Amino acid sequence: MHVAVFSTKSYDRRFLGAANAAYGHKLSFFDARLSAETSQLATGAGAVCAFVNDEVDRDVLADLASRGIRLVALRSAGVNNVDLEAAEREGIAVARVPAYSPYAVAEHTMALILTLNRKTHRAYNRVREGNFALEGLLGFDLNGKTAGVVGTGKIGEIVAKILTGFGCTVLAHDVRPNPACEAMGVRYVPMEELFPSCDLITLHCPLTPATHHLINAEAVRRMKPGVMLVNTSRGGVVDTRAVIKGLKDGTIGSLGLDVYEEETDLFFEDLSNRFISDDVFARLLTFPNVLMTGHQAFFTREALTNIAEATLANITAFEATGRAVHEVSVERGAGG
Ligand code: NAD
Repeated sequence: MHVAVFSTKSYDRRFLGAANAAYGHKLSFFDARLSAETSQLATGAGAVCAFVNDEVDRDVLADLASRGIRLVALRSAGVNNVDLEAAEREGIAVARVPAYSPYAVAEHTMALILTLNRKTHRAYNRVREGNFALEGLLGFDLNGKTAGVVGTGKIGEIVAKILTGFGCTVLAHDVRPNPACEAMGVRYVPMEELFPSCDLITLHCPLTPATHHLINAEAVRRMKPGVMLVNTSRGGVVDTRAVIKGLKDGTIGSLGLDVYEEETDLFFEDLSNRFISDDVFARLLTFPNVLMTGHQAFFTREALTNIAEATLANITAFEATGRAVHEVSVERGAGG
């Protein structure tokens, strides 16, 4: 099948190209993000392959349908950037990669937690400059602390397991409790109980209408003063302005983000020669107790291998049977 692959970087070409040796699809790689301005690049293809910040909205889907596209194969787990109802109306199937390496994201979450706590990013620079002072580097023992995991699916379950290994008491909240978490001693509680009880809160739920701004001003107000908040799920789960206020008044003791509500115009690009016009993001960068990465939690060799394999398997199955292996229905909703 001829596939127009959007938002590609050298690593996408490398991993998809290698996996495609066994599938034989015709892959046309485009640097451009999929949007109403770029969808014409898909002309002549039967499928489009898209990533997290591609805009697969109503207008783009209508345009893709008019060009004969019948499948959008996402290289991601979350589907929050796709208008699923519009896709159904246009007769375009949507496929995703439900699990490529939950370990990649869970382990990056731990990297944020450990770095924020022990400030190794600051210590690295100090030591290189001959500054061996410890002022400002004080951390805390994770052992014995209470951690809250919001969303205990594939990634949240692994995070809960690792935190349990560190000696934390793990509380969780999920609309569907996970028996594997209960078996390891995780206790499910309502959000009202989780917020004031936790020294550390980490978010692993999908972005849906129900989780949009789950962490808002009211949620921050209920949190334990000095809490560490970590988000590696989707930016929209957190109301950034409310969190900035929490950082300023000390309610939030430290913040780790791999995702940001308005990341579309920033992440995955080298903007180091430009200024950042997003004042909210720029404000986040001024806090010494904020650590941000640019949506890299998924970025391991294993994950990229699995993403490439599962994406091409989706396309092959769709071409052969009219159904992808992991097709997303409107009812299923975003991210799940
Ligand atoms: P999953 O579907 O296995 O688990 C998600 C869990 O969230 C489920 O148990 C679900 O019941 C729960 N949930 C749904 N609505 C909820 C709500 N309102 N409150 C609490 N819990 C709720 O998904 P996963 O593979 O664990 O991934 C979780 C999210 O992580 C994805 O949706 C995606 O947005 C994000 N993600 C980020 C990266 C990255 O690189 N930063 C990579 C992969 C996934």
